[in-house]
Amino acid sequence: MSNWWQRRSLKLRLTLWHAAATVVVLAGFAFVVYEVVEHRLAAELDRQLRIDFDLVEAQLDTDATGKIRWQVQGAHGDEGFARLSAWFEVWAEDGQILLRHWPVRETEIKRPLAAPLQSTLRFYTVELEGGFHVRLMERPARVRDRGVIVRVFRDESDMRHTLQEIVEVSLLAAPVAVFLASLGGYFVARRSLRPIAAMAEHAKRISSESLSERLPISNPHDEVGQLAGVFNQTFQRLERSFAELKRFTADASHELRTPLTALRAVGEVALREADHPAISSMLEEAERLQDLIEALLTLARMESGKVAVRLERLHVVEVLQDVRDSLHVLATEKQQTVEISDHDSPTATADRLLLRQALLNIVHNAVRYAPPRTRIMLGAARRGGEIVVAVADEGPGVAPEHQGKIFERFYRVDKARARAEGGHGLGLAIARWAVERQNGRIEIESEPGKGSVFRVVLPP
Ligand code: ADP
Repeated sequence: MSNWWQRRSLKLRLTLWHAAATVVVLAGFAFVVYEVVEHRLAAELDRQLRIDFDLVEAQLDTDATGKIRWQVQGAHGDEGFARLSAWFEVWAEDGQILLRHWPVRETEIKRPLAAPLQSTLRFYTVELEGGFHVRLMERPARVRDRGVIVRVFRDESDMRHTLQEIVEVSLLAAPVAVFLASLGGYFVARRSLRPIAAMAEHAKRISSESLSERLPISNPHDEVGQLAGVFNQTFQRLERSFAELKRFTADASHELRTPLTALRAVGEVALREADHPAISSMLEEAERLQDLIEALLTLARMESGKVAVRLERLHVVEVLQDVRDSLHVLATEKQQTVEISDHDSPTATADRLLLRQALLNIVHNAVRYAPPRTRIMLGAARRGGEIVVAVADEGPGVAPEHQGKIFERFYRVDKARARAEGGHGLGLAIARWAVERQNGRIEIESEPGKGSVFRVVLPP
C-alpha cells in the first residue's frame, strides 16, 4: 500500500487527501446533525409525555368500590380526542395492573409490558411487536390518597422516520460530495503545483553551460518563491565553484607550461651532450605532461567560452589531408597506412580549426590504439542531408559498455595500456566539444577485436 501510495503523483495524493478529509468532515457533520435532531425530537416527545401525564393524572378517580377509573372531563369538546389518543396504564405499587388504556394498538399488541420497576420518574423506549417503538414515561401519582404508578405512552414512529431520512439523505449525498470534493481537490492541487512543475522544467534546462541563468520568482514570500530562491542560491554557488575550477585549471596549466618548456630544453641539451636512457625517458614524460597541459588548456579555453567559432563552407577532404599530414610521422613509425577515399568530396558548414582539432584527436587515437601495419581509412560522404566524416581503424575496438563513456573527460578503457600509449582520456572529450560547437555530433560503431569507426556528422 505504502509503495503504491508513494508511486502516485503528488497531485493525485493531494486530491485523495482532500477527498478523504471531506468525507471525514461530512461524516462528522452528519453525525452531529443526527445527534442534535434526535436529542431535540426526544426532548419534544418527553415534553408531550409530561403533558399527557398531567392530563391523565388529573382525570383519574376511584369509584364507590375503590376501583380506579378514568373520568374524561371533556369541557372543551376534546373528549372524543382524549379517548382516542390518550394511551396509558395505571399500576398498583405492588406491580398489579389497575387500568390499561391502549386506544389504538390494544389489539395489535399481544404481549403486555412488564410492570414498572421503580417508583420514580423514568423515561425510556421499548420496542413492541413488529419493530414498533414507543416512548414511555412512568411516575408515581396519587388517586385519592392511593399511591399508584402511571405510565403514559407516545408513538416514536415519526421521530424515527425523521432520523431515518437524515441517514438516507446523508448516504445519498455522500458519493456526490466525495466526487465534488475530489474534483475540487484535483483543481486546487493542479493549480498549486503548476508553478513547481514549471520550476522543475526551467531548472532542467539550466546545465553546466548555462549556470548563470536563474529561476524566475513571481512571489518571493510564498513557499514556491522560497524554493526557487533556494534553487537560485544553489545555482549561484555551483556557478561560482565551476568558475573557480575552470580558472584553477587554466591558471595551473598556464603556470606549468613555462617551467615545463624550460625543463624540456634543458633535457634536450643534456641529451645532446650525453645520450643517457634516463634523460630520454625523462624527456618522454615531460612531453606527455606537456600534452596533458595543452589538452587541459584547450578544455579550459573551450569552457571559458572564449573560443570563437567561424563557420564556413569547406571541403572536408582538405581537412582530412591536413590531419593525415600532421600524423604522418607517427603513423609511419607504426608502419600504418592512412588512406583517404576522395572519390566523394562534399562540403560542410564547419569551423576549419575546430574540425581539424576534432579529427586530429580521433585519427590520433586510431594510430595510437590500432596495431602496427594496419590500415586507417578516412572519408567523407553526404548522407540524408548531412555530411558524415568517417575514421575507420583495424584496432581493438571499443566494447559497447564503454562506448557512451569514452567521450567523458579522463575516461580511459584500459588505464594501463592507455598510459603506456600516452593517452590522458581528454582527446575525445575535446573532439566532442569541438564538433558540438559546429552543430554536429560524433557517433561510434565498433566491434571489439575488429576495429572501430568514428563518424563526425556535420550540417551540409
Ligand atoms: P586518450 O587520450 O586516452 O586516447 P580519448 O578521450 O581520446 O583519451 O579516448 C578515450 C578512450 O577511448 C581511450 O583511452 C581508449 O581506451 C578508447 N579509444 C579511443 N579511440 C579508440 C580507438 N580508435 N580504438 C580503440 N579504443 C579507442
